[in-house]
Amino acid sequence: MAAERTLKSRPLERMDDLVSLCARRGIVFASSEIYGGINGFWDYGPLGVEFKNNLKAAWWQAVVRERDDVEGIDSSIICHPRTWEASGHVEHFSDPMVDCRACKKRFRADQLADAGPCPAREGTSEHDLTEPRRFNLMLQTRIGASEDAAALAYLRAETCQPIFNDFRRVREVSRQQIPFGIAQIGKAFRNEINPRNFTFRSREFEQAELEFFCREGERDRWFEHWLDERLRFHRALGLGPEHLRTRPHAPEELAHYCKRAVDVEFRFPFGWQEIEGIHDRGTWDLARHSEYSGKDLGVTDPETKEHYLPTVIETSVGVDRTCLAVLCAAWAEEELEGGETRTVLRLVPALAPIKAAVLPLSKKLGEPAGRLERELRRRWNTFYDDSGNIGKRYRRQDEAGTPFCITWDFDSEADGQVTVRERDSMQQERIPAAAVGEWLAARLGPAA
Ligand code: ATP
Repeated sequence: MAAERTLKSRPLERMDDLVSLCARRGIVFASSEIYGGINGFWDYGPLGVEFKNNLKAAWWQAVVRERDDVEGIDSSIICHPRTWEASGHVEHFSDPMVDCRACKKRFRADQLADAGPCPAREGTSEHDLTEPRRFNLMLQTRIGASEDAAALAYLRAETCQPIFNDFRRVREVSRQQIPFGIAQIGKAFRNEINPRNFTFRSREFEQAELEFFCREGERDRWFEHWLDERLRFHRALGLGPEHLRTRPHAPEELAHYCKRAVDVEFRFPFGWQEIEGIHDRGTWDLARHSEYSGKDLGVTDPETKEHYLPTVIETSVGVDRTCLAVLCAAWAEEELEGGETRTVLRLVPALAPIKAAVLPLSKKLGEPAGRLERELRRRWNTFYDDSGNIGKRYRRQDEAGTPFCITWDFDSEADGQVTVRERDSMQQERIPAAAVGEWLAARLGPAA
């Protein structure tokens, strides 16, 4: 098949286009779909889980493995309930909520602009709203057989609090000195009043957080360092300058313990929204956990012998939100020469769920093509597809974000060559079948 050419490319403008691609290809779709779904909960399918794992691996590589001053952990989701008293979540982690007396819908009082008209009132489309009430966002559960208050526990509302719980032990076992950081990736739960915009605001989601402990006098330097690092990371995921900006918080927006905060925002089809926050949390968390646990979480300077509480710089990114941002930036609908259109996910190869697809031109060529695919599979996540015409098979890989296709045709056996096709340019090239591994390694890295 001759190489195709793009005449026009359209970026994502309506979330529905992405939502339907994600459902159709099983990337992300409603949880418990057979029961009608459950609001604020999402499942990642075969392609989605590979994509999300790649994104988490990229974060872990950049924040933990490539550094000798960051340690990783994987804490439990349910912590001692005192954790959430110390952190202030039991008392303060709430949103203002209002109800409409007519249509019974519930809204966040600070997001009424998005409420839309009331479907239940005559003569007016305005909602009949109650006074705002505070609504705590932490999801509760009970532990053990007892129903009493002592058994009450919370699903963690953020992944960072267990990092403070573990600070002392991790520092001891890793023999780290200040400055150093502790990082983890994991689930967080928030009983959001209005989950919406696909996975953007969910009730169960994943966070990747770093708490970096430093001396007070070095807080600004480390803040700048991590802000730069995190922006570099997002750019490497394919989020270009037209999609990315930073927004410093105004003093009145800051949590009382927070000295400085900058949001990393992405331009979604529904507007600029936060995907990550960089925060200077001061000594608040370690001071509170010291107070509530009765354990001294201070450190002693090895030279001056001064005992002090380290200052914390936090980077907190939503894994699902970043996945969504990457998908939004990668999606394109293209008009091709000859009148056809294709949907393509221009994912950077490191994030692509499938790195290469092997496509025999005919089922009769299955034996040698299968052999090649099995060989590549040892190094990368590959895919074998022998059904449908070759054009359709290319389209299926384009919308799955597969960067490379390898076609085994009727000449391959005789001349030992295959056709490799690149997703974005659709350029094709004939190379020796024996050199495919090397050709891919030059574009994908030695293995993934
Ligand atoms: P928002 O103002 O959007 O509710 P936040 O400021 O409360 O977010 P943080 O507590 O700073 O968010 O959490 C850090 C990151 O976790 C956010 O930047 C976001 O990417 C992610 N996150 C927070 N809440 C949700 C949610 N309900 N669904 C998906 N991701 C979330």
